[in-house]
Amino acid sequence: MGAGIDYGNLDEGRHVNYWALDRTLQRELRRVYDPTDFEWAEPRLEEFGELIGHTVADNADYIDDHGPELETYDEYGDVQNFVRYPAEQRENERAVYEAGIVADAFEAPPGRDEPVPFSHFLAMLHLLSYADAGFGCPVAMTAGAALVLERFDEDDLEGYYHGLVSRDYDGLIEGAMFLTEEQGGSDVGANETTARYDEEADCWRLTGEKWFCSNIDAEGTLALARTEDAPAGTDGLSMFLVPHGDPEGGVLTVGDRREFEGAPPGEALNDQLYRRLKDKLGTISVPTGEVEFDKTKAFLVGEREAGFRQMTEMLNLERLANAAASCGVMGRALLESRVQAATREAFGKTIDEFPLMREDLVGMTVDYEAATAYVAEVGRLFSERERARRNGASRDELDDEYRLLRMLIPIAKLRTGRMAVDTTSYAMEIQGGNGYVDDFVTNRLLRDAQVLPIWEGTENVLSLDVVRALERENAHEPFMQTVEERLEAVTHPALADAADTVASEYEEVTAALVTLAEADPDYVQLSAKRLAHYVFEVFTASLLLEEAQADLEDGDGRTALVARQFVMTELETGEARGITGGDRTVLEAFEAIVHHAPVDPETVAETVTADD
Ligand SMILES: Cc1cc2nc3c(=O)[nH]c(=O)nc-3n(C[C@H](O)[C@H](O)[C@H](O)COP(=O)(O)OP(=O)(O)OC[C@H]3O[C@@H](n4cnc5c(N)ncnc54)[C@H](O)[C@@H]3O)c2cc1C
Repeated sequence: MGAGIDYGNLDEGRHVNYWALDRTLQRELRRVYDPTDFEWAEPRLEEFGELIGHTVADNADYIDDHGPELETYDEYGDVQNFVRYPAEQRENERAVYEAGIVADAFEAPPGRDEPVPFSHFLAMLHLLSYADAGFGCPVAMTAGAALVLERFDEDDLEGYYHGLVSRDYDGLIEGAMFLTEEQGGSDVGANETTARYDEEADCWRLTGEKWFCSNIDAEGTLALARTEDAPAGTDGLSMFLVPHGDPEGGVLTVGDRREFEGAPPGEALNDQLYRRLKDKLGTISVPTGEVEFDKTKAFLVGEREAGFRQMTEMLNLERLANAAASCGVMGRALLESRVQAATREAFGKTIDEFPLMREDLVGMTVDYEAATAYVAEVGRLFSERERARRNGASRDELDDEYRLLRMLIPIAKLRTGRMAVDTTSYAMEIQGGNGYVDDFVTNRLLRDAQVLPIWEGTENVLSLDVVRALERENAHEPFMQTVEERLEAVTHPALADAADTVASEYEEVTAALVTLAEADPDYVQLSAKRLAHYVFEVFTASLLLEEAQADLEDGDGRTALVARQFVMTELETGEARGITGGDRTVLEAFEAIVHHAPVDPETVAETVTADD
């Protein structure tokens, strides 16, 4: 068992190795990877954590002040749709894509016979988001677009697929997804963009306007549009690949674009207008803008009028990626807070010696562990399903995983997005006045985090999605089975009280599910968000207890403290807000929980003091 981490030795949460410092992520990945995958992944994550903690983090700070700029027209008034990126952003892109963040999930990397599970992609995204959650957006959409082409394209778009999964930066194209129109972001069925087949050009042509287009100049953009005579609503939407370049010139890779030494000539461009970039609060590294399609050339992806269903596959990965990014942002905020609390003095002591600050840091750490454990678990289920599907398993064979994921993915996104905002907001306060100032990273972390609950579906919209998963897929069945199995496995006496609490809350959440199955639609909607959070809490509590049980058996009592603290704060309501109860756990467990000091299992039942 290693020693605790001395955050007082660090100056800031930068110029460090994010992987080496993140024992929570390490524990979770060791749990969800199979041992040979972990052996392969560990040194690569170590190297990636070093890269993100130094070059990428430094560049990300610069990019926040000097983000991409759009030059829609050239000096003669001709459309050029040129997005100018700072050199620092190009450096980050090259380093991160060439580390295999997308490629490894689709094509066997050197030294392996098959691609790496998606858990690895999520882990890299988690680490990347310590430095730049904005850049996480194009990375996630590149993987999402590749997943859609892998599943639904019948080789017509092979060149685009190869660009999306390219490990070589010069051969890369990035993905994007254009769904939102001014009249409908949540209500995608209100999309009005039309698609008509052009016999002469032998391609589709899109006409309409997209209102929020992140990674606006991606070559591998997937957009939804309605073909002639298609029905209203989501059932009438088809999916199209809409390249940045004129497809007659072939796939326009990063390397091809660089050869133009500036904007590509007009004839190399597709027929569309990038109207303007949004002047956003955060995520500056990803250019988000408005696009007008004007008979824009496009390729149909998969089946006509199956666009929304196909897009759901991409959205699932995007939402999971958003959750991983939320965890990364929380991880950075927590690291900055730990360092600040261990080094900043007030009233003659470092501020982490004060009881209130100890309570804050324990709370933030437990939130981070809960979010990371949940996302790693959902990532594991997602990875297993994708691996089985690639190996030919049918939908029926994957039914339980499918139904469980259908409910757990929207919850992952909605809960962690909210936690990222709360954690970064509080991390800013821990920095004091400096935290509010642009020179300090907490300022950017909060600005970046604020979009995490909005894009890819708001908290309300995702809560309604959870209810739909229950109504249409009976998603509660695999959920209940999973929680019951976990609770049965928790036998250690140190976990008995917490396990009793979770078992009783499990009964309550089950009763809530029964009530909602019979309730009128308004009442179901009214309860949807509370239910989604409740499911997160019960599921995560059972997961943390199961992990705590395993760690106790392996001689470490720290996870037991984390699990008990999570259960206490999320599922118990102490009398008089806990004040009359005299509980001092956060003070006694501070070293163990916040600094990862080892805990002897023998001491966990009666005392929570760390070994050292
Ligand atoms: C920085 C940024 C980048 C983006 N990038 C992209 C992109 O690349 N591609 C893309 O397609 N979109 C993108 N979006 C758009 C984003 O996905 C939408 O803004 C989001 O889904 C919400 O849609 P909306 O803006 O139309 O809001 P609305 O759908 O109008 O929602 C407004 C409010 O109403 C609530 N609401 C809506 N319906 C219900 C309901 N039934 N019950 C209760 N409450 C409800 C919502 O929760 C929200 O609070 C981006 C947005 C931002 C901010």
